[in-house]
Amino acid sequence: MAYLETLEKSLYSLVTETSTNLPKDVRRAIKAAKEAENAGTRAAMSLDTITTNIVMAEDNVSPICQDTGLPTFKVYTPVGVNQIEIKKAIHTAIAAATGDAKLRPNSVDSLTGKNSGTNIGAGLPVVKFEQWENDYITVKLILKGGGCENKNIQYSLPTELEGLGRAGRDLDGIRKCILHSVWQAQGQGCSAGFIGVGIGGDRSSGYDLAKEQLFRHVDDVNPIEDLAKLEQYIVEKSNTFGVGTMGFGGEATLLGCKIGVMDRLPASFFVSVAYNCWAYRRMAIDIDPVTGEITNWHYQEGEKITFRDEEKQDNSDNKVVELVAPITEEKIRSLKVGDVVKISGRMYTGRDAIHHHLIGEGVEAPVDLDGQIIYHCGPVMAKDEAGNWVVKAAGPTTSIREEPYQGDIMKKFGIRAVMGKGGMGPKTLKALSEHGGVYLNAIGGAAQYYADCIKSVDGVDLMEFGIPEAMWHLTVKDFTAVVTMDSHGNSLHADVEKSSLDKLALHAERVF
Ligand code: SF4
Repeated sequence: MAYLETLEKSLYSLVTETSTNLPKDVRRAIKAAKEAENAGTRAAMSLDTITTNIVMAEDNVSPICQDTGLPTFKVYTPVGVNQIEIKKAIHTAIAAATGDAKLRPNSVDSLTGKNSGTNIGAGLPVVKFEQWENDYITVKLILKGGGCENKNIQYSLPTELEGLGRAGRDLDGIRKCILHSVWQAQGQGCSAGFIGVGIGGDRSSGYDLAKEQLFRHVDDVNPIEDLAKLEQYIVEKSNTFGVGTMGFGGEATLLGCKIGVMDRLPASFFVSVAYNCWAYRRMAIDIDPVTGEITNWHYQEGEKITFRDEEKQDNSDNKVVELVAPITEEKIRSLKVGDVVKISGRMYTGRDAIHHHLIGEGVEAPVDLDGQIIYHCGPVMAKDEAGNWVVKAAGPTTSIREEPYQGDIMKKFGIRAVMGKGGMGPKTLKALSEHGGVYLNAIGGAAQYYADCIKSVDGVDLMEFGIPEAMWHLTVKDFTAVVTMDSHGNSLHADVEKSSLDKLALHAERVF
């Protein structure tokens, strides 16, 4: 096979493997989180779902999470290798993997909102090259989803931090910023997560450095002694915050912290944090520059946890309520924070574009939404041989983006339940009380698990917004989620945020 053809095939394998099979070091970290959680809790139940999902994604060779992120490649080439050819091969591989539903079409024109459908667009995928002295090519790829990307944060020191007070231009100020970054993410970036931190640089190089840290191994040790200590300290203390998996509360909040440092301008002092969800999809390969063949896969060291023979959680203590739409106000008002629901029957997807559309004056919904459930989800879809739509991945997306619209839309159309991840704010909580509604938190990233609960795709509306944004009509069976905001003014998210702030504040005193 010619070099270019083989190269494209190698890159396609890299994309598929990254999207569908979590690396060994990440699996071990998730296993440790499971062991840390107390049996029977919502966090333990979530981790069970997460590990079931990991197994399903590997078996189905399908995306671990429906948000397959913004593909970011870092390519190292020997002098003389044609980088233009490699970039073209990356584009071909990305488009092919998108066509095969290994990636969701995620490239959206920032001005028109049009989805290219291929993951190729202005500036996407991101491909960065560097030359090196080695005689082989290395290609690294990270697929980092939007939910966790939105929880990245950059601090300009000195600054004042909620709970921690003044953070100055020294190692202790850096410590405070990093602790704060974990706290502010709560469960919205699909905790338990991993962070990469960049100290120094300017605003853009600082973030680059932070993301670069996410290519490090979870269990490596920082060669700079102070940073090695800080990395360990951050993981240890973050896990006392009680944020837990999905922000449900629990023992495991942060699974890894990697810190890099570069010089800065005298006038600037940035600490940049890249937050990555538990679906920490990054992989790397070495490629022969003559044949284009893969010669080595990275992240292969140590034991591979398969999660196949794990004992399942006993959830018999949790109250489980069956929900079938259309749901009455009375039934919704009987639900309380902490109840587990199992949904069967109809639900509709709706995320950013649908909410923006439905809020428009005089706009009618394409279907009768009275008593219905809206699922904040942008699924990966494909057509089968008969031309029917099938769901390839369908976990929840971050709900807080719909906060400006959600309450009004529920009232306008009579919607009784909205489901997503990470919770919503005070405006929605008030509307849930007034109208009689609940917010349901599904397990973020559990895209295969939930796809399996979807028994048929019965229709689609507003396809002009693109596959992830369209309104899909789904029939589901035993689709499990947790009531985290109810119609009585209770919000688990607000409670966890408050209690974790108290725990964060215990670390205001100087340590380094
Ligand atoms: S696991 Fe959560 S944060 Fe990560 S890509 Fe999926 S939806 Fe986004």
